[in-house]
Amino acid sequence: MNNTESFTSIPWILENGGKAFADLGVPNSGGTKLFSVSGHVEKPGNYEIKMGTSFAELLEMAGGVWKGRKLKAVIPGGPSTAVMTAEMISNAKMDYDSLSKAGSSLGAGSMIVMDETTCMVKTLKRLSYFFYEESCGQCTPCREGTGWVYRVINRITEGQGKMEDLELLTSVSNNISGRTICALGDAAATPVLSFIKHFRAEFEYYILHGKSMVDGK
Ligand code: SF4
Repeated sequence: MNNTESFTSIPWILENGGKAFADLGVPNSGGTKLFSVSGHVEKPGNYEIKMGTSFAELLEMAGGVWKGRKLKAVIPGGPSTAVMTAEMISNAKMDYDSLSKAGSSLGAGSMIVMDETTCMVKTLKRLSYFFYEESCGQCTPCREGTGWVYRVINRITEGQGKMEDLELLTSVSNNISGRTICALGDAAATPVLSFIKHFRAEFEYYILHGKSMVDGK
């Protein structure tokens, strides 16, 4: 991998050896990893940790959840990785196998922490807009699907949602996944599927009441 993070590991590896670097981590996830922790933490920033470090330790390094609030959800590896509830991630370790076993993936280590005041419907709307904008338009499932998903979520947040929209979002996302040239298609489908799976009640409430269960707006 010729990226900056890999290059910065090279001086230490040349000095101490590849095995010593791998031994810093755990089997299948050697060495250290940079996590860019953003969202509702006291000290957002880049943190280098040994692979296999617990999520609790990383969160503590980032100052914990801000304003003394409760943790609600975490996207551990960036927008293309599945969202995890606080319960799912609380005992997880930050390495490839552990996060996969816990129901998500390590991705690029771009962690987004969300506190109890976060509306998951509005969060998914923001994420889906990102993928809609990022789609280059080369493959039909991604080009049409990302726009379709965004419009349906937008409709829900405008109080025009229907209960069938949840099945529609799931079906459109499943039809993007695995049917595109690059990984952006899968990346766009993953948040939709995981948000609906883990926070379905919030989506249903929004559809039934035309407003967020969390902030009432
Ligand atoms: S999957 Fe990749 S190549 Fe295909 S339209 Fe989306 S961004 Fe373009």
